[in-house]
Amino acid sequence: MIDAALEEQADWLRMWHRALVCGLPPARDVVSAEQPPAGRFGKWFDINSERGLLDQPVFKQLWPAYAEMHALGCGLARKAAGGERLSAAEYDAFMDKAQSFAATARRIRDAFQRAVYDLDPLTGVHSRRCMMTALERERERSIRTGNAVYVGLCDIDKFKAVNDEHGHLAGDSVLLAVAGRLIANLRPYDAIYRFGGDEFLLAFAETDGEQAVGIADRLRASIGRMKVLPSDGVALSVTATFGLCVLDPGEPVETTIQRADVALYQAKRDGRNRVVLWHAAPDRGGRRHG
Ligand code: GH3
Ligand code: MG
Repeated sequence: MIDAALEEQADWLRMWHRALVCGLPPARDVVSAEQPPAGRFGKWFDINSERGLLDQPVFKQLWPAYAEMHALGCGLARKAAGGERLSAAEYDAFMDKAQSFAATARRIRDAFQRAVYDLDPLTGVHSRRCMMTALERERERSIRTGNAVYVGLCDIDKFKAVNDEHGHLAGDSVLLAVAGRLIANLRPYDAIYRFGGDEFLLAFAETDGEQAVGIADRLRASIGRMKVLPSDGVALSVTATFGLCVLDPGEPVETTIQRADVALYQAKRDGRNRVVLWHAAPDRGGRRHG
């Protein structure tokens, strides 16, 4: 929509210049209204203003910048249409407004693009792209502060059957719902990433093993209570299994993830819908929950 605003502005500027440079009567949209015409951008802006999406200060600047440019442009075009000559200062003031609007719009668009680049398009959680950097940062923080970080892998049980029996779209709804449950039940300083198909990686900051297992078990129970209603109307329930491991500051992050995966595999073998915490030999008595 920001791109739409920039396109609309470019079209409008073209009409404005066309009238002034060629000495033609300006088009209706250029002079008829003080308010800019409600094109796609205007409509989008109206809808989202009501929804509070645009409470960000930078958004609040955007519409006034658009409206000011139009108001000034309309005034100048009307003046020129009446046979008056515009001064260089008037022209510069108008172009400054137009450029300032475009610069603000581009800044917002670029910030949005940077923000969504690292998000998984289906679930909206962080994607794997930024995961290793973030976990590396957690590892360094853990060395500095001495506080433990736990890594958890959450994998939906028998998810393939959901796809096979109800279709891929229903599967997508389940993935979205599971991600929603994880986000809603995590603490603000925990992190979540889409690790693979039906697998999420969780990072529990500043926690101990017991707490991490407690959080994961709460997430597990919450997912198990969910009823997902895909568009075909059949309510679906799923369970999920968790493997956890402490992030060892002396080991590469990959080693911790592999260990969480070993614990996850153990939990799947033990019957799914449970939490297993990795320790040196999970096969000989990893702690199990669920
Ligand atoms: P388990 O309990 O052992 O984890 O069994 P499972 O069936 O969940 O395991 P598996 O890893 O074989 O299945 C994962 C499935 O997830 C396979 C793949 O088709 C599906 N999948 C991966 N990504 C997506 C996606 O984005 N949308 C949907 N609907 N399905 C996906
Ligand atoms: Mg699975």
